[in-house]
Amino acid sequence: MLEQFDRYPLTFGPTPIEKLSRLSEHLGNNVEIFAKREDCNSGLAFGGNKLRKLEYIIPDAISSNADTLVTIGGIQSNHTRQVAAVAAKLGFKCHLVQEGWVPFEDAVYDRVGNILMSRVMGADIELVDQGFDIGIRESWTKALEEIKSKGGKPYPIPAGASVHKLGGLGYVGFAEEVRAQETEMQLKFDYIIVCSVTGSTQAGMIVGFAVDDRAQRVIGIDASGTPKKTRAQILDIAQNTANLVNLEQAITADDVVLNEDYAYPCYGVPSNETNDAIRLCARMEGMMTDPVYEGKSMQGLINLVEKRFFEPGSKILYAHLGGVPAINAYSYTYRNG
Ligand SMILES: *Cc1c(COP(=O)(O)O)cnc(C)c1O
Repeated sequence: MLEQFDRYPLTFGPTPIEKLSRLSEHLGNNVEIFAKREDCNSGLAFGGNKLRKLEYIIPDAISSNADTLVTIGGIQSNHTRQVAAVAAKLGFKCHLVQEGWVPFEDAVYDRVGNILMSRVMGADIELVDQGFDIGIRESWTKALEEIKSKGGKPYPIPAGASVHKLGGLGYVGFAEEVRAQETEMQLKFDYIIVCSVTGSTQAGMIVGFAVDDRAQRVIGIDASGTPKKTRAQILDIAQNTANLVNLEQAITADDVVLNEDYAYPCYGVPSNETNDAIRLCARMEGMMTDPVYEGKSMQGLINLVEKRFFEPGSKILYAHLGGVPAINAYSYTYRNG
């Protein structure tokens, strides 16, 4: 589906799929849980899902003759850290608008984890006092204007690399990669669990899995706390991406399955249940998840298994999208483990 698009390799190649045997057993062995390790996909500053998207965006940035990658996210954004790493690797300048999306007051929140790495990698960081929103922001548009007025050539990458014409392609590729791995492993996944906020990860998966009628087997776990916006954005990106790759079937609202039950209390703040899920997964599998994204989708996975949402014998693929560096900004929460 993607042969016609340029791809700039930023990842190691196909990511491994491993069985989470101890977690499956702990939850009663009614289902088999596997993880696809997108968190280990690259040597670029700890990797993560944004790199798979950026592989299809970077060729456009290069051919535009831009000199500065400009993007936006929260203070502990994984996305901005991955853009900073790509800029360093390819010799672009990098301007990051980082907004105070998370009402969280760990003493070192704006010093450690993702933002620390972005600073070390030389990104120019602008801190802005604005609340959470996945849409296009004024601060970002302003940053683009400012760079232009100083003679620079900015290349705009929206939050999460999502609302970009090529933003959905990377995770179409994920679905194709999973299909090839299924053949090799001689199994087929009944469900794919994925954390959603800006939406192009799930949108790409929906398009990629629509090919074998599994669009609705992609279970999004909302971590935005603004699920209406996220759902609408997923549908929009999925439909645009479907057009782009000439998908034969139509993507409809029914294809966007987004569970809203685990995003509480709000974006970026973990509930006690999220923290329990992070600890359980860490202690059963040595697999770290973070309090903003993957801890919430792990909580969703565990709770849905416990509630018997999945038919007995189901094979479930948890897409681990990365994000662990942010846990450093929650040092007080985990001071005793
Ligand atoms: C960005 C991100 C997500 C959400 O992906 P979207 O494409 O924005 O929906 C999930 N997990 C991690 C670790 C992320 O960095």
